[in-house]
Amino acid sequence: MVYTDYESQLAVLRSKGNYRSLSSRIPQGKYVIAEDRTLLNLSSNDYLGLASDPLLRQDFEAWVGKRSYPLSASSSRLLAGNYPVHRQVERQLATLFGREDALLFNSGYHANMGILPALANKRSLIVADRLVHASLIDGMRLANAPHIRFHHQDLDQLERILVKESPKYERIFIVTESLFSMDGDITDLTRLVALKRSYPRVLLYVDEAHAFGCRGSHGLGIAEEQGCIQDIDLLIGTFGKALASMGAFVVCSSLLREYLINTARPFIFSTALPPYQVAWTSFLLERLATWDDRRAHLATISHQLAQALCGEEKAMGATHILPWVLGDNATCLQVARELDEGDFYCLPIRTPTVPAGSARIRFSLSADMTEREIATLSSLIQHMHRL
Ligand code: PMP
Repeated sequence: MVYTDYESQLAVLRSKGNYRSLSSRIPQGKYVIAEDRTLLNLSSNDYLGLASDPLLRQDFEAWVGKRSYPLSASSSRLLAGNYPVHRQVERQLATLFGREDALLFNSGYHANMGILPALANKRSLIVADRLVHASLIDGMRLANAPHIRFHHQDLDQLERILVKESPKYERIFIVTESLFSMDGDITDLTRLVALKRSYPRVLLYVDEAHAFGCRGSHGLGIAEEQGCIQDIDLLIGTFGKALASMGAFVVCSSLLREYLINTARPFIFSTALPPYQVAWTSFLLERLATWDDRRAHLATISHQLAQALCGEEKAMGATHILPWVLGDNATCLQVARELDEGDFYCLPIRTPTVPAGSARIRFSLSADMTEREIATLSSLIQHMHRL
């Protein structure tokens, strides 16, 4: 009786093509292993192909040597879970970004869910791109501050909002992603910086989850590429994607770091990342700048697949996240099945994860995929286009 409603809600999800279930397929390097088949995995965020590189793992074990890193922090960093390695990684990040400081979070979700509620109050306004990630939406919902969403990448609309609203608030948070997780497009951060200069009460909050590791001359992301790291008040990066680890960080001023340590609830009330995991992150950060060849190859195959999806002209500027927008959930599921039959594991991204009518296959590429593999996928896509 008490469960009846849940059962009927699940039935509704099934009927709308929105039902989610966990796959029994096992990820292995750039593949997933099904009972009788091996499929190329185009649904992973292992953009640099580091996650199961055996040599890297060996090097790490040698690097660890006799040092002992516990497998659990056993408490929040504010209790007894603050190990030197946590601070070491924050200092490493501050040096890499050339900024005052950084603060670790257990995941990007924790960071985004915790930072806005900590920093924004009734005298603040949050203005966010309509397509920002669920974790940022939850952060906005939890914050005790009004928020407005602007059309995706419509920075003219954003400016109109600033003109109208900024006199009413002490502080305005502009919240966006640098490389959008579902559309793969890049934000003009330099224009946001120009807006910040015109409206001095503005703070820029930029989530680089999908760009950190993959873009910029040292792999720091789009703010590095566009030369504006110094102007982003809160720059978020995650370790669970290109960096092949777990956790997240915000790069910011020492003052904001100190304030977040005192007010960001996911930081205060959750067990810190395991020191062993943080040591792996530190080891990877030391090598981040050296993976130019991986970044260059990722750009090459991204362009190659983009050509097949949208033609030469539109392929310019394509990133390693490539959406194939198909419309309704049912069509999207059907296309995913056909790609699967061709040994390509591409999960359909459906409404409500993306706006209604824009269900899509999201191809996410990894630097360990070959041009040949992408050519086979491209032929299959072109064949399906023709049907
Ligand atoms: N921000 C963005 C833009 C994301 O896409 C994601 C995860 N998909 C997150 C934050 C959350 O990061 P994490 O997986 O570390 O929780």
